[in-house]
Amino acid sequence: MEDNKDEIISKNFIEQEIDKDLLEGVYNHVQTRFPPEPNGYLHIGHAKSILLNYGLAKKYGGKFNLRFDDTNPTKEKTEFVESIIEDVKWLGAEFDDRLYFASNYFQEMYDCAVLLIKKGKAFVCDLTAEEIREYRGDFKTPGKESPYRNRSVEENLKMFEEMKEGKYKDGEKVLRARIDMSSPNINMRDPVIYRVARMTHHNTGDKWCIYPMYDFAHPIEDAIEHITHSICTLEFEDHRPLYDWVVKECEFENPPRQIEFAKLYLTNVVTGKRYIKKLVEDNIVDGWEDPRLVSIAALRRRGYTPESLRMFVDLVGVSKANSSVDYAMLEYCIREDLKLKRPRMMAILDPVKLVIDNYPEDTTEYLDVANNLENPELGERKVPFGKELYIEREDFMEEPIKKYFRLFPGNEVRLMNAYFVTCTGCEKDENGNVTVVHCTYDPETKSGSGFEGRKVKGTIHWVAAATAQEVECRLYENIVDEEKGKLNEDGSLNLNPNSLTVLKHCYVEPSFEGARAYDSFQFVRNGFFCVDCKDSTPEHLVFNRIVSLKSSFKIAK
Ligand code: ATP
Ligand code: MG
Repeated sequence: MEDNKDEIISKNFIEQEIDKDLLEGVYNHVQTRFPPEPNGYLHIGHAKSILLNYGLAKKYGGKFNLRFDDTNPTKEKTEFVESIIEDVKWLGAEFDDRLYFASNYFQEMYDCAVLLIKKGKAFVCDLTAEEIREYRGDFKTPGKESPYRNRSVEENLKMFEEMKEGKYKDGEKVLRARIDMSSPNINMRDPVIYRVARMTHHNTGDKWCIYPMYDFAHPIEDAIEHITHSICTLEFEDHRPLYDWVVKECEFENPPRQIEFAKLYLTNVVTGKRYIKKLVEDNIVDGWEDPRLVSIAALRRRGYTPESLRMFVDLVGVSKANSSVDYAMLEYCIREDLKLKRPRMMAILDPVKLVIDNYPEDTTEYLDVANNLENPELGERKVPFGKELYIEREDFMEEPIKKYFRLFPGNEVRLMNAYFVTCTGCEKDENGNVTVVHCTYDPETKSGSGFEGRKVKGTIHWVAAATAQEVECRLYENIVDEEKGKLNEDGSLNLNPNSLTVLKHCYVEPSFEGARAYDSFQFVRNGFFCVDCKDSTPEHLVFNRIVSLKSSFKIAK
């Protein structure tokens, strides 16, 4: 094997483990999986897990499975299965036809349980859930053995079958692994592996009234699919001995091994399902895909691209220690991704009219404008220009503050891609609000005309009023007020009242005709925006601000 030093350094600890396994011949291939429970929408943390597992399979020429861990019928819904498949595909994690459902293995799991009973490694227990908890002990106290622990194999087989046949009430009996009640690891103290529960399952209907517990089911699912590296998050570290016990005692050949990594947490956002559910139910957000959330559906609606999320996950890397990543890093990634790919257009979010008094009436001039100065491949477009324009309200000040280089009476600025104009004054309504700004232009100063006369300090953008299209723009801030703490004293979320600003009367150039859901653009000086997939129509375009243009966040290169 050709080893070069750089390559070793850049490998994360999971890759190092895989290398070792392949070298030692523990496995001769790599097979990973993403095993979501279909009980909610996927979020940015899941994206990390998906891309990690998919990335490893790809890197080692192996395979990647999408498997629904749908062994717990209480909370699972078909709606979630569909949204998860969509999200995984959108992220670019190709699973082709390797889509599996753990519930299709119920028979194999049952057979494994029978095998354990026959080996004297599992028993039917009549203790109540509460008694089981009491008997279990804690970190300081060893557990106490169940009085049913020494039932004969025959009796256990008969009773387990009766559990399956529906002879017992919910909770009346459970099947437990027979391991070690004095183990320092509480997970090894005869854990419950099957329970009686009369619940209709979204896939198997009423076929089963006993269901396997997660710690028993999961290793079997992995083993059946010939997973080699079962990658999960740190909270399962203490469960690993049980994982190993299950695959060994169930006699799987070449069993999988579990490797844990730290969950991804982000600052400034709400990731907990419990909180998001409450926000959805209280109608504080517009469903699970509200652009202020970080579910994958929400990020997609906001305008994030799969490429930006892949970049983010790569930058974050994998680690063994829990920590929070700055939300600004996610924003950095989408800016980097869109910077050269998307056209830079002019849009006015907070309009005020600018009238060029010496420009001819009823005239529309078409100016040639580069779509992206840093990427000539995006070509040019024609932008209409005329006597009346819209500009940003903040680009005019009747009484300028210090270092203000934009429009104020007597000052000359450049209209981006067009002419120099000199401000001559303004009109106001009875409340003193500016309604129209006046100026004159210098025809010699047209952009691209080679004019090399005087320089100006300020450049502002504009949209010609006659051809402008009125659109809605939605600006977002963090949904919780992180400064004051995410939670109030009563445990409720400390919501930021400014998390959504809806601007109903924005103006864009006519070049947006044909813009479709998810299309994104840079609006010069204002940020990156994307056409909303839910509320935008060709007649009434709605844009989400993905991210503003500036950030204090820097990646050391
Ligand atoms: P949540 O409680 O946020 O819904 P979960 O762990 O219950 O998360 P599952 O559907 O059970 O969600 O998990 C699917 C996979 O995603 C698991 O392998 C889990 O470890 C992983 N995962 C979940 N949250 C994160 C996260 N924040 N960072 C990385 N991986 C995660
Ligand atoms: Mg879960």
